[in-house]
Amino acid sequence: MSGSLSDDIATAIRSSGRWTCGDPIYSLEGERALLRFDISADDPLPRYLFSRRSPLATVHLLAVDRDGAIRQTSLPAGELSSALSGGYFKAPLPTVDRQTQQVVVAFDFPSHRMTLERAYLAPSDLSSGPDFLRSMLLLATLAGMLSMPLIFNTAFYRILREPFVLWHSLLTISLLLTILVSSGLAVVLFDPPAMTLSWMTTVIFGLTVASGAMFTHSFIEPGRLHPFLRRSLAYCAVWALFLSTSHAAFPFVGRSFQSTAYTAAFAPVIVIFILSLSDALRRGSRAAKFQAIGYMPIILVGLIRLITGVVPALHSNDVMILFYVGCVFEVLFTTLGVADRFMTIKRQRDHARFEADMLERLSERDALTGLLNRRAMEQNFERFRAEGYHALAVLDLDHFKSVNDLHGHLVGDAVLKAVAQALQADAHVQAFRLGGEEFVLLVRGEDAQARAERRRQSISAIVANAAPGLGSPVTASMGLVLASSGTDPEFTELYDQADKLLYNAKQAGRNRTITASAQVCLNSPDRSPLIGRTLRPEQLRASA
Ligand code: GH3
Ligand code: MG
Ligand code: MG
Repeated sequence: MSGSLSDDIATAIRSSGRWTCGDPIYSLEGERALLRFDISADDPLPRYLFSRRSPLATVHLLAVDRDGAIRQTSLPAGELSSALSGGYFKAPLPTVDRQTQQVVVAFDFPSHRMTLERAYLAPSDLSSGPDFLRSMLLLATLAGMLSMPLIFNTAFYRILREPFVLWHSLLTISLLLTILVSSGLAVVLFDPPAMTLSWMTTVIFGLTVASGAMFTHSFIEPGRLHPFLRRSLAYCAVWALFLSTSHAAFPFVGRSFQSTAYTAAFAPVIVIFILSLSDALRRGSRAAKFQAIGYMPIILVGLIRLITGVVPALHSNDVMILFYVGCVFEVLFTTLGVADRFMTIKRQRDHARFEADMLERLSERDALTGLLNRRAMEQNFERFRAEGYHALAVLDLDHFKSVNDLHGHLVGDAVLKAVAQALQADAHVQAFRLGGEEFVLLVRGEDAQARAERRRQSISAIVANAAPGLGSPVTASMGLVLASSGTDPEFTELYDQADKLLYNAKQAGRNRTITASAQVCLNSPDRSPLIGRTLRPEQLRASA
């Protein structure tokens, strides 16, 4: 029966013509909706009213005896407690005994058809037997499973700062909260008032849809989703949040049609989701495959709720079991998707790093001879010093210009390669090509001077072997400085000193080495190396 708040309930319920019995279509049109339960003699006596929670103003509960006596209680919505079975509230009836013929329940300002459709009377919270315990255990297990992806995501996010990891975490959290508030789990744990759970369910639903949309928005690979759809997903997120928060905050604005309109307003979101996933699948998105499987049951639940909620002839169905299965499916497959994506991105990143490393290494090599170049020398000089390379030699080929002039550039190149080969033949000698036909050797070990000299002298034979027919042997001149291990000279200091020695070696007739100890001012901020001083070879030889 529909009525208005001004009607006296006790009078109204006696006019039997106003009741619609059988299989009525429940309407929210009136200010007040009344339900009548006829008590039969063999039923156990009910003590509570249970129904789906949704915003309403007051619940009136009346026990009508055969002799016409009526006991009535009224409960404002805020005082309704939550039932253990998911999504239901519970209201104690006035005393019902064997004299009681009918129980009448009146809802002031009901806002959801389900509250009328699902109402039933029972002696106790039916959901407290072993079946209930089993279902609670199952739900708790489910909730536990949902917290695992959060741990994975934290680990992923430390390595890959991708927004979809955060959206996936938010989606997981909101599904976790959904299970908590829409099942009896929250009631077992916190026993919140029914209306609190009611608005929380609505807001959390919006959060779930929004984070799901944002997850898909950020998770589908670049170029695998039409930009319009990608943008639409972000709009869907804003839309869902707006809908759910305003519906939760103002449930009575368009009360009689608001729930239906609210449900229907999610239709475009489902459509955009389905379109996005199919578009991404068509474009070969790997991420979409995981999501398509993961979202399948939840999209099905959404469609069932949408259709049964909007078509008046159908009883609203919230398919809770399928919904819970859907949550697990969704989180399981999207987590697999995130892990898969993580591996792909990590592989790509490792590859890019490898290439960058290789380029870095290539940039330290001389293209003709493969020797390390000046850049490598300068950047790694400290390290070489630390590894015990205490002697530095500058080596220049003698009359190399004439090799080019007489035999051509190609032969000149072959000679340079052969020289590189000669200089590299000792594990204690690091050879660098500084440019042209000038090389630097870094030498370690006690006999550094002898090692460097052996490298220089080996050039003639190795070049003659690699480039026969040159006529005269190719020789080189060398300046060598020995820096004792306690000192910490800079590259340029040693180089300048060695270069001077080389110049002197050239002056002295080429094909020879001039050696000196490095001239370093120890611990002096104002280092004054040999630069600028004139040194005669005899002097240097003496100091070696
Ligand atoms: P010196 O004994 O005084 O060093 O005489 P030099 O002829 O070796 O001296 P110079 O520095 O005048 O000549 C160096 C020549 O090295 C000039 C240039 O043609 C040649 N050269 C420099 N780089 C390359 C190269 O990459 N390949 C070839 N084939 N020749 C090069
Ligand atoms: Mg030369
Ligand atoms: Mg030269």
